[in-house]
Amino acid sequence: VAAGGNLLSVKQILMQFGGLKALNQVNLDIVKGSVHGLIGPNGSGKSTMMNVLTGIYQPTAGKVEFKGKTISGSTPSAIALGGVARTFQNVQLFGEMSATENVLVGLHHSYRSNVLDVIFNTRRYRNEEQAARVRAAGILQFVGLSDLAHEEARNLPYGKQRLLEIGRALGLNPELLLLDEPAAGLTAPDIKDLIAIIHKIRQQGMTIILIEHHMDVVMSISDTVTVLDFGQKIAEGKPIAIQVDPKVIEAYLGG
Ligand code: ADP
Ligand code: MG
Repeated sequence: VAAGGNLLSVKQILMQFGGLKALNQVNLDIVKGSVHGLIGPNGSGKSTMMNVLTGIYQPTAGKVEFKGKTISGSTPSAIALGGVARTFQNVQLFGEMSATENVLVGLHHSYRSNVLDVIFNTRRYRNEEQAARVRAAGILQFVGLSDLAHEEARNLPYGKQRLLEIGRALGLNPELLLLDEPAAGLTAPDIKDLIAIIHKIRQQGMTIILIEHHMDVVMSISDTVTVLDFGQKIAEGKPIAIQVDPKVIEAYLGG
């Protein structure tokens, strides 16, 4: 996909839970290299969209195309290995593992060693292990956690845990990164760090979908913003237009 083309296209997605249409005929195009904000009141379907995009939910109808190929119907791990990584609305780290080990978990997919390489500690395995550790150190530096590399994840302050989650997702070297409310629960200085990191990620050419409640964060970073309300897309456009869109204001005030 060339810069400016659609990296991801969501076509007529319907996600039904019993009688509830959590997503109702939603179309969404994500331009390669962009930061795409996804907002809407609580319960409007944002996290459901993330779960559909990453294969955790199978849509009731419609499809998701990534780089022109249908990915809806694939497993979450196939989609992740295919280049779509995510963080979760609630932190999901390996608490008793160090920050470095949490990032290494994301890196292991690129190993070529097999179980015998591991058992016999072959040169191939040692080289890969070494390369992965160098890469993990680079990622921790990228998200500003070098000093905490050896800390157990559960002992990190909450804001740092959220940054570590982003680091672990970056370990997959994704083309598309989905962030579900990364600023939730962060202090103002942590939010500043987060914004700087998102800018750096995008400078590397990665495409980002950002779900976020903090309007100033979404509006300052996003190229395009899509607004969901009761599972339907009610507005889409540049932040400057979205902020003053009467339908959007109504959705937030009326919700
Ligand atoms: P948001 O992230 O925008 O706050 P969600 O996508 O989490 O909203 O939820 C959208 C709607 O779908 C809510 O009404 C929620 O209760 C419902 N929902 C989400 N996941 C499930 C599920 N697994 N089973 C039943 N209902 C669900
Ligand atoms: Mg949510």
